[in-house]
Amino acid sequence: MSNVSGLSPGGASPSNPLVHTLLGAGRRTPRKVAIYSAAGEMTFGRLEELSAQLAHALVEDYGVARGARVAVHEAASANVLALNVACARVGALFVPLNTAYTDREVLELLDDCEPVLLVREAALATSVARATLGELVDAARDRPGVFGDEVTDESTPAAMLFTSGTTGRPKGAVLTQGNLVFGCVTLTREWAIDADDVLVHVLPLFHVHGLFVAAYCALASGASLRLLGGFDVDRVIEALPASTVLMGVPTHFTRLLGDERFDAAVTASMRLFVSGSAPMLVSTHEEFFARTGHRILERYGMTETGMITSNPLRGERRVGTVGTALPGVAVRVEGPSPGVVQVRGPNVFAGYWKRPDLTETEFTPDGYFITGDVGVLDADGYLEIVGREKDLIITGGLNVYPKELELIIDAFPGVLESAVVGVPDADFGEAVTAVVVAHPDAHLDVDDLRERARAAMAPFKVPKRFVVVPALARNTMGKVQKSEIRRDLATRPPR
Ligand code: AMP
Repeated sequence: MSNVSGLSPGGASPSNPLVHTLLGAGRRTPRKVAIYSAAGEMTFGRLEELSAQLAHALVEDYGVARGARVAVHEAASANVLALNVACARVGALFVPLNTAYTDREVLELLDDCEPVLLVREAALATSVARATLGELVDAARDRPGVFGDEVTDESTPAAMLFTSGTTGRPKGAVLTQGNLVFGCVTLTREWAIDADDVLVHVLPLFHVHGLFVAAYCALASGASLRLLGGFDVDRVIEALPASTVLMGVPTHFTRLLGDERFDAAVTASMRLFVSGSAPMLVSTHEEFFARTGHRILERYGMTETGMITSNPLRGERRVGTVGTALPGVAVRVEGPSPGVVQVRGPNVFAGYWKRPDLTETEFTPDGYFITGDVGVLDADGYLEIVGREKDLIITGGLNVYPKELELIIDAFPGVLESAVVGVPDADFGEAVTAVVVAHPDAHLDVDDLRERARAAMAPFKVPKRFVVVPALARNTMGKVQKSEIRRDLATRPPR
């Protein structure tokens, strides 16, 4: 980790690597706007000052100390980012909660992470001290604009993110300052993000993609963030002509393509579109290039590991792959290909909060984290993600990888997209089932789909059932919710 401490040259180890990484570049341009948002403009100087003032308020008013958790259930805003920096200054863990969580879910997570403070607008029946973000900022107002940052190192826990796992109880992934600094420094270099960039920010700040990739890369390089507080086609199209970088999930790009105003002229000042968090269809890549002349750069990562692979900024971006391992990150595919993707490196998290049992089973004896994603590595090191291990279908004793079938079905005329899942079946163990969405102007006939599938794949792979639906169930990060699709299928009468 010693080679990733901060972005500035010189080599001396900073006393708080995360604060140094997040504020270092901005300290050279205090009057420059760091964050444009609905609330106005925040300069780098103000971010520095507010984060110091908030750090004072956290410590003096709420007893937040090194190692304490600060849970944050707030919409994306510049103040949330300042609060995150304040936690880094104190050495506390920033614990952002999905804004879609209900009170019951928030209470469960509070029980789990036992924060010293909950930052959220609405009251909640909990013994945890609560403040609204506005109250915190008010409390911070008269405090000194400088703060003696806690002395930390790469191993200091900096954040806990509850994984957006589609099944089971959420688990808190503990990320260290070293994890976050490594990710930020590596991506900033790989994607050449610098102070001239203006990044359109449309992602949640409670997720690795929106916080540690998009927001951190911009702050750390002294670039400006246009914080839109969510994805809205009109606002993105408005922001793009004065911007250079957009990071999004595949659904964002398909929504942009669905708007006829989105074209080469609107994207003329843009230099980089990054997609991740969910697989992007080959057709989306192609349509995007045809419409704008830009090739989307697809990368792959997860909460527990930060970013793992990326297609190159310069060099070949291979559609259908998530690129090659980032420098310093080791990636391997275990067993016969396709196999489970395993990863080791300074990007890999410290473990699950209060779950040493899981930490043990999710790592190999030689220290690789088992991602649960199934993939294929080609001869040049490009990784293709075939699906999640738990989504693998075993039908009549034979393995079926949903992605392989989805790619074939997506290419049938009139098909917009598809999801292939296994549903319990007395005969086969699991029956291959395809849920298909039609193009807006097409009509799909299930017999025709079945005929085409018979001609295109081995008999055991041919879906036993095709179901045409208006849309695929997705979560906020655009991930198709296969467990929800399976549940929904269970309630539909068989055809
Ligand atoms: P999360 O922890 O919410 O970031 O989810 C991580 C998971 O998202 C990974 O384990 C993958 O299953 C999926 N994922 C992320 N990026 C990609 C990508 N580019 N292509 C396919 N799946 C992806």
